[in-house]
Amino acid sequence: MARGNEISRRQFVATAVSTAAISSFSAQRLFAMGRTDDRPSEQPASDLIANPSWKDQGIESLAKSPYAKLRNIPVRAVTIKVGFWSQRRKINVTKSIPTMHDLLEANGRMNNFRRLTGSSNAGQHGPVFSDSDIYKWTEAVGFALGSGDLTDIRPTVDKMMDEVVAIQEPSGYLNTYYVDDRKNLRMLPETQTTGHELYNIGHMLQGAVAYYRGTGDRRLLDAGIRFVDDFLIPNYGPAPKKPIVSGHPEIEMGLIELYRITGDKRQLDLAGYILQGDDRIKLPEHRTIYMYSGTPFTARTKLEGHAVRAMYACCGATDYYMETGDQAYWKTLSTLWEDLTKRQMYISGGVGARSDGEAFGDAYELPNSRAYGESCAAIGNMMWNWRMLAATGEGKFADVIERALYNGIDSGMSLDGTLYCYRNPLAFDPSTGEKIRNPWYDVTCCPPNLERILASLPGYFYSTSSNGLYVHLYDNSELDWHLEDGTGLKVAQKTGYPWDGKVKIEVTPSQASEFTFHLRIPGWADRAQVSVNGKTVAGVRAGEYLPLRRRWSPGDVIQLQMEMPVQVMQANYHVVENERRVAVQRGPLLYCLEELDQPEGVALSDAALYLGKNSPAQFQSEVESALLGGVTVLRHTGAALERPASGSPLYSRYSSAPARMRRVPLKFIPYYAWANRAATSMQVWTPVFQA
Ligand SMILES: [Zn+2]
Repeated sequence: MARGNEISRRQFVATAVSTAAISSFSAQRLFAMGRTDDRPSEQPASDLIANPSWKDQGIESLAKSPYAKLRNIPVRAVTIKVGFWSQRRKINVTKSIPTMHDLLEANGRMNNFRRLTGSSNAGQHGPVFSDSDIYKWTEAVGFALGSGDLTDIRPTVDKMMDEVVAIQEPSGYLNTYYVDDRKNLRMLPETQTTGHELYNIGHMLQGAVAYYRGTGDRRLLDAGIRFVDDFLIPNYGPAPKKPIVSGHPEIEMGLIELYRITGDKRQLDLAGYILQGDDRIKLPEHRTIYMYSGTPFTARTKLEGHAVRAMYACCGATDYYMETGDQAYWKTLSTLWEDLTKRQMYISGGVGARSDGEAFGDAYELPNSRAYGESCAAIGNMMWNWRMLAATGEGKFADVIERALYNGIDSGMSLDGTLYCYRNPLAFDPSTGEKIRNPWYDVTCCPPNLERILASLPGYFYSTSSNGLYVHLYDNSELDWHLEDGTGLKVAQKTGYPWDGKVKIEVTPSQASEFTFHLRIPGWADRAQVSVNGKTVAGVRAGEYLPLRRRWSPGDVIQLQMEMPVQVMQANYHVVENERRVAVQRGPLLYCLEELDQPEGVALSDAALYLGKNSPAQFQSEVESALLGGVTVLRHTGAALERPASGSPLYSRYSSAPARMRRVPLKFIPYYAWANRAATSMQVWTPVFQA
């Protein structure tokens, strides 16, 4: 997220609690205008497509999407049991979502709505996109309620939604920033470019949809429909209507998901129109690059500009493809995905190299300590790949989802669930003075984004297809759902994943029936074995789904055994920062060094790996259940290089003498768990000692 005015840097206030926002009611509220006149009159609710019903809709509802190969399952269909993700999800609903509610209130995000109905006398507070903070948080709550969590908070959220809907004007317009003196700026081309009106509504639609799917409550959804059907569609679109430009892509996804609920094709067409841009709004090229919109999406040839904008645009474009089958979109999406995975993505799954503009850099520009890697951008990457996976059923997209989820996304939230990273660098030096995790940012896009991903996570475990079931993620869990032909199906996973590569899967259809169980073999799993009821299955290939077609009977068991050696990774030689450096991963987890884990006197800047030919054998995995919530650490006898004394000249004559070193034990922790103890140096890419 960048503030409305171009590309300024994030601003955070670690403990900022706006005094204006927590001001108590006063006599002024009695004079808070006659804005109640602007309340929408009671309107009949639109008909929604009844099949599938709200309870049966997933993160996306692809049941009628003609070009989707896979269909989502509802979040409530999967129960995540005690294991890796259960800890994070428990913290999310007991700490993160409740404390974020308090911070949103304390920083005036709800009072922005209340002041417009006279129930608060606080001034407008926060950036132009502050409404989206509420919507994104509501989305997290909607998913959590769908899983049966957070029921205590439901009355609070219901009341908040009443307060949101109360400011909707008869025209359908709803925004807390473009009111009063700013009313005449609404939807002007310049406002659309930087004012985030449609971005806010995109998040409103996503939050409304999640809340509807979690609870059946459609009050926010109906307000979203009114905005789209009453305000946008009659007034904006191709000539003779007024033009639209998507200043921060997001509305595209929201409109298409709305179309999937209402069946109103005008909503899909509006998304398509926005994705193609409208040349009636003239914009300089640097602006259309930055926004990743304003020109035809299908003319894009690479990822560039603001990373979150680009990822959300790609999400919307993939959604559009799944509804229309437009091959020009698919060609562009495939080109951009190649750019992502060959030239632009960090090994953590994070994207967006540059702080300046929160932007993609040039090809292979992937700095470590200066990496931006905004949490939202990694989330956008996961959301895009989720859509590419739905369109194709191809394992390479699930590999990116897993890489981003376990690393560049999971790093974004502290283990106690109350501190968040905005940027997720791959090296860090606390002597710069930067505080990397904070409870609140005035641009607070990332925290509720992380909360919605954790709350919706069960919905990412499985998909159905016309011929069976796909499993994408492994953790102790139970699926209770059905195949597309209606056959009831339960699937129970038992595993120590991601610490251990053994997964036992019990398949229980309601009656014996023939279908294909598509078992994901992760791209990192070079050595994996699969058996069904004890009988080994051939054809296992890393990075693909193994199709297990048979007549499945209750109690059938799949055993997946993935060897999980330490893998030492190098970067493409074009990534100059990583020259002669390696990163270490095990299973889906990327590892890093934190200085406080290394022997006394070993500075991280002096540490090197000491690798022979058979590198995996030179690491030992060790469970440390008391460390960082319980992790497997990696130990390696590396080297501490003897460096010139501090104060040595910036440049000196080259010496061919080998560097002097001493052997030292090094200890790696999972990258997602970094920065949860005392501030210390961290690095992912470590030099290799050249003997
Ligand atoms: Zn963010």
